[in-house]
Amino acid sequence: MKAFSYYNATDLKDAVMVLGNMEVQSLPLAGGTDILGEMKNRYVSPGRLVNLKSIPGLDKISFGREGLKLGALVRLHDIAMDKRIQKDYPGLAQAADSVGSPQLRNVGTLGGNLCQRPRCWYYRGEEYPCIRKSGGICYAVSGRNKYHCVIGGGPCFIVHPSDTAPMLMALGAKVTIQGVKGSRDVVMDEFFILPEEDSTRENILLPGELITAVTVPAPAKGSRNCYLKFKERGSRDFALASAGASLLVDEAGTTCLKASLVLGGVAPAPHRAKEAEALLTGKKIDLQAVEQAVKAALADAAPMTENEYKVGLARTILKRAILRAAGVEV
Ligand SMILES: Cc1cc2nc3c(=O)[nH]c(=O)nc-3n(C[C@H](O)[C@H](O)[C@H](O)COP(=O)(O)OP(=O)(O)OC[C@H]3O[C@@H](n4cnc5c(N)ncnc54)[C@H](O)[C@@H]3O)c2cc1C
Ligand code: SF4
Repeated sequence: MKAFSYYNATDLKDAVMVLGNMEVQSLPLAGGTDILGEMKNRYVSPGRLVNLKSIPGLDKISFGREGLKLGALVRLHDIAMDKRIQKDYPGLAQAADSVGSPQLRNVGTLGGNLCQRPRCWYYRGEEYPCIRKSGGICYAVSGRNKYHCVIGGGPCFIVHPSDTAPMLMALGAKVTIQGVKGSRDVVMDEFFILPEEDSTRENILLPGELITAVTVPAPAKGSRNCYLKFKERGSRDFALASAGASLLVDEAGTTCLKASLVLGGVAPAPHRAKEAEALLTGKKIDLQAVEQAVKAALADAAPMTENEYKVGLARTILKRAILRAAGVEV
């Protein structure tokens, strides 16, 4: 790890001022479970880390008329264990609980989970100056691409690694962003960006900007949700494919009035399965309707040389998440 200085931010204004000072390249530090690995491997070498944990009040979970508000420093463990989140937003508790190991969830924060960098093994290797590190080549195209994207790729083919992001997007969450000039709210659908827009970053945050909170709308009557994830190793692993399903069902609990379906692990950003959403809306939720809907998901997938398996995997996990959310036994 290269030498760097460490700054304890006193409040948000202080943090964005220091982060926005371009004389020294500064990056925010939350739990550190992702960024410290990057620094140890020397492909990220900021001159200064700005510690956000010294800012009071960013680690609060609250419920109000707007819904659930999560500070950026809320730990994943606290989301997974919160009784009211488990009841009203079970998919979010499941997503947080699916991250890494208990140790990681006890340290890792929501803001860090949404802003973590990709896991592509070429990106994580100091010796590969790929497109995401402002180089000229994507090594995954002619190299090993078993864990890469099957949709939305080019010129970089990462998958977005966050488990909370697909579920939060399915729940219609918005992100509050703080910069030097003030704060703004952005819906999760507009927070992440694809490589065709910019291959060197994964979201719209500009240098010096921070996530301060995430707000999830209050659950409507008849809403149900679920998050499921396929991983290679049972103990702890990133998603090969995952699905966040949020449904609004009629009073009888049998017909889908609205479906919000987002896939993880298959695209450079959480991928909204719009075709499946449209096919499911207005239908009685049974195995036949769900299978028809998920068949349409990833219709325009373009697998790489080693990852065609992900298309079927994503459809299966989406099917299971919808059925589980709807409470349909098969
Ligand atoms: C072994 C291992 C397994 C893992 N498994 C999973 C997994 O299964 N699923 C998963 O989703 N993740 C996984 N992770 C990734 C990661 O550790 C977690 O997602 C964690 O939540 C990151 O949070 P953090 O607070 O530690 O982030 P940090 O490491 O502190 O920060 C991560 C990045 O986000 C930026 N950042 C942090 N907070 C903010 C903010 N408020 N605003 C703007 N930028 C910010 C930092 O500058 C940095 O670039 C794993 C990591 C490891 C090492
Ligand atoms: S997929 Fe992206 S991060 Fe990985 S080698 Fe290609 S350009 Fe780099």
